[in-house]
Amino acid sequence: MAEHILLRHRDIPDIDELDVYLQHGGFAAFRTLVTTKTPQEVIDEVKASGLRGRGGAGFPTGGKWSFLTSGVFPRYVVANADESEPGTFKDREILERNPFQFLEGVAICAYASQAKTAYVYCRGEFWDLARGLDEDLGLLRRRGFLGQHLFGSDCSLDIHTHLGAGAYICGEETALLESLEGKLGQPRLRPPFPAAEGLYGKPTVINNVETLTNLPPIIQRGAAWYRAMGTEKSPGVKVFSLSGSVQRPGNYELPLGATFRELIFDRGGGVPAGRKVKAILPAGASSTILPGTEAVLDTPMDYESVAALGSALGSASVIVVDDRFDLSWVALKTSRFFKHESCGKCTPCREGTYWMMHVAERIEAGGGRPEDVSLLDTVARQIQGKCLCALGEFSTMPVVSAIERFRADFEAHMTDGR
Ligand code: SF4
Repeated sequence: MAEHILLRHRDIPDIDELDVYLQHGGFAAFRTLVTTKTPQEVIDEVKASGLRGRGGAGFPTGGKWSFLTSGVFPRYVVANADESEPGTFKDREILERNPFQFLEGVAICAYASQAKTAYVYCRGEFWDLARGLDEDLGLLRRRGFLGQHLFGSDCSLDIHTHLGAGAYICGEETALLESLEGKLGQPRLRPPFPAAEGLYGKPTVINNVETLTNLPPIIQRGAAWYRAMGTEKSPGVKVFSLSGSVQRPGNYELPLGATFRELIFDRGGGVPAGRKVKAILPAGASSTILPGTEAVLDTPMDYESVAALGSALGSASVIVVDDRFDLSWVALKTSRFFKHESCGKCTPCREGTYWMMHVAERIEAGGGRPEDVSLLDTVARQIQGKCLCALGEFSTMPVVSAIERFRADFEAHMTDGR
C-alpha cells in the first residue's frame, strides 16, 4: 500500500496532535517559503504541480491565485469547508484526523496570495470540528505559527473559523462569501468574480479543504514529485468518497486516473454478493448518472475521462447503485434534496426543482400518468441553462440522465403501480 499524502493519519498515529505533526515535517514547508521564497515563486511551484481544485470544478489552483487583482489590499483567503454534497465525506475526515496539514495549507495559500487574514468556513453541522479547529488555531498562535512577523519575517497571518447555518448553497463560493459577511447565503451575480471583489469587496481566494491539504507536500517535495502521480492533465492524488451498494464504503486515497473498478471492487470490496453494478453517480447527487457497464468500470477517474463519458468527476463522491434499485427512486431522492436546498433566488430553479420533485413523487407513488416521464424530462430541461448558479443545473442532471438511460424504471411504475 502506497503512503498516504492526504490521509496521513492512516499511516501516522496521532498526527492530529501538533507535536506529532511537527515531528513528521509539519510546518517545514510554510517556514521555508516564508523565509526563503517570494509569493510569486510559491504560485509558480503550485502551477507547475498541476494541482486542480478538489471541490468539484477542477480549476487549476495556481491559476486561480494569479487572478487576484494586483495592487489591491487587504486580500483574503477562505477555506471552503462547507462539505455538503450527498455522498461526500472526505473533507470531514481530513479536518477531523489531519487538521494541521490542512491548516498549513491555508497558511501557504495565504502567503502566496499575500493575505493576512484567512477564514475556514465550516458547514453548520461541523460545529464539533470547528471547535477542534479553534483549539488547534489557539495552539498555533501560542507556538508562533500564526501571528505577527512569523519566523522573524514581514509575514503576518491569522486564521479564524466561521460556522454556516446548514445550507448546501453556501458551498457555492459567492453564497459562502455572503454568508461569511453575515448576509443571507445566496449566490452573487458574476462578474465581478471573487478574485477581484470577494469578501468585503476585496480580492479573495476560495479553495476547498482537500485542495489546501495538498499544498504542504507539494511545497516540501516539489512540483515534479507531485506530477509523477496521477495523469498528465489531472496530476496528483484524490480522496474518493465511496458509498452506496458496496461492501466497504469509505474514503480511499488514490492517484487520479485509477479506474472505477479499482475503487469499487479492489478497495470497496464490490457490490453485495450476487448483485451487479447497475449505475454509478460519480459526483454525488450532482451527477449525470452513468450505467454500470464494463466500459464505465474500466474508465479512469480523472477530470477528462469522466467528462468524456458525459458526466463529471466533481468532488469524486462515487455512489454505487446495484441492480435491486430503481433509478426513478434515485431521481426522486435527488429531486427532493435539490428542492429543499434551492435558495429560491431565481425562478427556474426555485419553481423547477419543486415541479421535478412533485412529478417524480407522483410517478414513484404509482399515480403517474403515461405522459409524466416526458413531463419530468421537460421540466428538468426547462431549468437547464437558465439559472444563476450551478445548483439549478446540477438538480437536473440525475433526472435527465436517469430518464435517458433507465427510462424503463420510470415506466414500470405506470404499468405495475409501485
Ligand atoms: Fe438559488 Fe437555485 Fe438560483 Fe442557485 S440556481 S441562485 S440555488 S435559486
